[in-house]
Amino acid sequence: MKNSLKIALLAIALPIFSQAQSLEISEKNLNKHVYYLASDKLKGRGTGTPEEEKAAKYISKQFKKAGLSPKGNNGWEHTFTHKKSSDPHGMTQDGPKLECRNVVGYLDNGAPYTIVIGAHYDHLGLGHDHNSLDANPVGKIHNGADDNASGTAGVIEMANYFANNGIKEQHNFLFICFSGEELGLVGSKKYTENPTIDLEKVSFMINMDMIGRLNEEKRLVIGGVGTSPSFVPAIDGLQTTIGIKKDSAGIGPSDHTSFYLKNIPVLFAFTGQHSDYHKPSDDADKVNYAGLKEVITLVKSIIEVLDKEPKLTFQATKSKESDTPRFKVTMGIMPDYTFSDPGVKVDGVTEGKPASKAGLQQGDIILELGEFQITDMQAYMKALAAHKKGDTVKVKVKRGAESKVMEVTF
Ligand SMILES: [Zn+2]
Repeated sequence: MKNSLKIALLAIALPIFSQAQSLEISEKNLNKHVYYLASDKLKGRGTGTPEEEKAAKYISKQFKKAGLSPKGNNGWEHTFTHKKSSDPHGMTQDGPKLECRNVVGYLDNGAPYTIVIGAHYDHLGLGHDHNSLDANPVGKIHNGADDNASGTAGVIEMANYFANNGIKEQHNFLFICFSGEELGLVGSKKYTENPTIDLEKVSFMINMDMIGRLNEEKRLVIGGVGTSPSFVPAIDGLQTTIGIKKDSAGIGPSDHTSFYLKNIPVLFAFTGQHSDYHKPSDDADKVNYAGLKEVITLVKSIIEVLDKEPKLTFQATKSKESDTPRFKVTMGIMPDYTFSDPGVKVDGVTEGKPASKAGLQQGDIILELGEFQITDMQAYMKALAAHKKGDTVKVKVKRGAESKVMEVTF
């Protein structure tokens, strides 16, 4: 072969090679982000705490470094207030008003539609909010390395990848790190109620929550696959050594639910439960960083396949409500965690579950369950915890101006 020809071929081949090499998701960066976010210095990133704000600043700094533009309602921040209960049993709503912030960055490709990539960055702080599974949680730092420094690191690295890969994708990208997830998907709900982009123009949303514990069998749950007919073919067409377990439900235990309830197709990546879940021992040294990189690379590949498609079609799913492990029964509703009047307001009803069978509807306000007065979420959870499978009880709801009594069987 002639030398000149060799050089000509090299000139074609080189840019492709160098691009592919520099474009990998960086395990080193993921490690750095998780160790910082899950450090004791950030005291568990409790919603509305100064330490959570520090985490938000770190994220916006990374977004800026990647080359995104700010897309909050206040620079990088999408700010909102959330009122917490002040008494230990959560019976009132007179608690302090928390100042909270989602962190939002945008990659504008001048495209008509946008893909949303998200993860929550808050965690349980010092264990004050009754959602720790530690026997004696108050005052202990809940570092939340897997939950959800892992997903947050994923959003940051994905931002870096899509902004710097030298490819102009067919969609714009919105990268968003949510606050208040642990208090009930508060940040994502606030965002979808008060968005900074037109949600009608969102093709789909992908959420990463707890992706740091890929085990030896390499099992990854991908939820939401039933929310668009495009998802299953896209996932099935991938070359991967990861064992993907598909779940169709659009309603799940994390922030994608808020987007699903706005009729947006959603996906949800999750490496599964473990014994450190919601405990102070969910630490950075227990994260599988090579696995984290693999999961994020897989999610990235799914996005790249779907980027080439027109705006995805939404379809509603029958969904499994995930409830916390403390309960033996489930109603199959998605509560409106931001509802502050007495009772529990139903934000979504899962088909085929007890609440749906009993005739409950979105918008109903549950006031009584069996012998329990349902004043708020805390009372509702107590009532659920007191029942077992097979129990039939009366449920009293307010529907508009009417009050209705139905029978629910767990
Ligand atoms: Zn959590």
